[in-house]
Amino acid sequence: MSHPLHSAEQVLEQLGRLPGGPELLAQARRREDVALVGGAIRDALLGHWPRELDVTVATDSAGLAAALASAISPGERAYGRAVEPVLHERFGTASVAWQYGRIDIAERRAESYPAPGALPEVRPGSFEDDLRRRDFTVNAIALPLHGADNEGLVSVEGALDDLHAGLLRVLHEESFRDDPTRILRLARYAARLKFEIEPHTRELAGQAVQGGALETVSGDRIGAELWLAARETDGAAAFGVLDSLGVLAALGMPSPFDDDLFREAEALLPDDGSRALLLLGVALYPASALEITHSLGFTREQWTTVVQVAHGADKGAETLLGLPATMPVLEGADAELVALAGALAERESEGAAQAARDWLTTHRHVRLDIDGGDLIAAGIPEGPEIGLRLAVTLQLKREGRVSGREQELREALGVEPSLPAEL
Ligand code: ATP
Repeated sequence: MSHPLHSAEQVLEQLGRLPGGPELLAQARRREDVALVGGAIRDALLGHWPRELDVTVATDSAGLAAALASAISPGERAYGRAVEPVLHERFGTASVAWQYGRIDIAERRAESYPAPGALPEVRPGSFEDDLRRRDFTVNAIALPLHGADNEGLVSVEGALDDLHAGLLRVLHEESFRDDPTRILRLARYAARLKFEIEPHTRELAGQAVQGGALETVSGDRIGAELWLAARETDGAAAFGVLDSLGVLAALGMPSPFDDDLFREAEALLPDDGSRALLLLGVALYPASALEITHSLGFTREQWTTVVQVAHGADKGAETLLGLPATMPVLEGADAELVALAGALAERESEGAAQAARDWLTTHRHVRLDIDGGDLIAAGIPEGPEIGLRLAVTLQLKREGRVSGREQELREALGVEPSLPAEL
């Protein structure tokens, strides 16, 4: 599919309307070395709204960051607070982030890879060096910003044609071996931009995966990339591409990736659920190889949900198929788990997802107006019996059979304490 591209003039005009754009243009009039690069110029040329402004300078990224931070107008600062730039002196990078925008600044550099998968060795570089170190041609375009009479676009060969044609192409044969995380970035861009992967680039990615390139990268870096892929607007499409490149199988995750299953579960997921966690859970289901999750550097919270989803989905589906959704057996289960369980149950028996839907939309929000203290005050001895009485009453409330404090208390006190413990 071909994509009409904006001109450099149109990009500059758009930049003037982006958060931080006028401040950046003002700084670019003071120093000669500022250029818009990477995702920002790619998206602006496509007529999209860049997520952040990627900028390079020849030197002193910290100086530009400080000047930009102090130029952000007080009206744009959260609670009028000063904007603090974040500096990474070791890498020559800096960022300025505030309520409405973000600018990432990097000193132009050349990179070489001491070993496949290792972090690159970095040294100051020219404009061309800085474009050549990038992942894909469409990200290797720059627009120098100095003065109103900008020099126009600078790019690696073929970059503008590839952008126009919607093609993702690496810059050289060794790109994926040097940095295998680019294979995961490739899937993200393909899903996000809806670009095709140029055939030789696809071949190189496949060869790198088959050759064990992913094993040269730390689990933390792979996990971070998987998380970014899962958080894409169409994260399932990114996982589809990862699967087609052999990445999921190489990581020991189930393949093929079941896109339909994710979409069926997603349709059940309530607004307070996380699509990204659900997607990772689906990508790891059926949970035959969850060991991989230990090495991916997920936070405890992410890990717990993802593993619960992948591991508990079959049991959850069985529960939904066998019990009414008012049952407290779903109590405390993550929404992502119930959504996947619902989708699996529906595959077994049409209509079974309704129980998950009812639980997620209504029943899980029902709370009693009474608590254990009320029962103790009414003479019930402290102990497990209190929890049992409350659970039975809660279920009656979910079924619409009791409402209001008085009725709840009456029901809770009238419960036969010999009811089966599993309730
Ligand atoms: P996003 O909207 O996700 O931020 P982006 O293209 O701006 O998309 P970033 O991760 O912010 O991506 O990186 C900014 C730029 O830095 C990229 O466009 C690319 O040129 C370059 N880059 C980032 N990571 C790599 C990498 N692993 N190898 C080579 N170049 C990279």
